Amino acid sequence: MEKACTKHCLLVIVLMAVTGVVLLCTTRSTAVGEAGVSTVLPEMVGQYRGIDVRFCQREECMAEFTVDALEGKAFCLSCGGPLDDRSVAEKRILPSDTLIAKKQYVDDKGNVIFVSVVLSGKEQRSIHRAQRCLPAQGYAIEESSSVSVPLADGGAIDVALLNLRHGSAPGQVRLSSYAYWFVGKDKATSSHFERLRLMAVDRIVHNVSHRWAYIAVSTRREPGGGEDVERLKELISVLYPAIKKK
Ligand SMILES: [Zn+2]
Repeated sequence: MEKACTKHCLLVIVLMAVTGVVLLCTTRSTAVGEAGVSTVLPEMVGQYRGIDVRFCQREECMAEFTVDALEGKAFCLSCGGPLDDRSVAEKRILPSDTLIAKKQYVDDKGNVIFVSVVLSGKEQRSIHRAQRCLPAQGYAIEESSSVSVPLADGGAIDVALLNLRHGSAPGQVRLSSYAYWFVGKDKATSSHFERLRLMAVDRIVHNVSHRWAYIAVSTRREPGGGEDVERLKELISVLYPAIKKK
């Protein structure tokens, strides 16, 4: 009798697992495509002024410029090649319905903070793990942690924080502090795996696939540490409430 029950329970568990897998594979979400953030970055964030960035489209050059530096010119200042608002690599890797917003923010002391928002399209291929994506672009991740940032409109957001190093030759090394987090419709997380879990719940339980955004904010880091993380937190506390959809 007991054996029969164990068998029965096992069968139920197997059936549930199979149903789960079938649901995962066959559920065709109606791709509502709602985003949790706007991809229009504000002109001003606190004391910081936002400037658009343009990328040279020649693979052998790939220089980037602020529109201020271009002074109205529509070609690359290094090689004369065509410019675009997304880089050659992004065009190659990201699905075409991905939305990208980027600005370089500068305050009157000359502090510079880079902001980018990548909003996935119908497929969710647009967003990659930072731990895979950054090394592919030549960055070494020296340290990673997570920090809670109080927001200007109340509440707080957890962001992942990385210490990055680019280049190794003397005089060529660039250090930066890099913060990122993911935003879905009415939710945010700094964890790649938590995002995957939330997406699966949306798909399986609610039969919907919302668009997720990857927000990254970075600035130059002094070798011995400095105010860089405080500057990032200060900008995020104003930026995030400004682009978050209510
Ligand atoms: Zn160029």
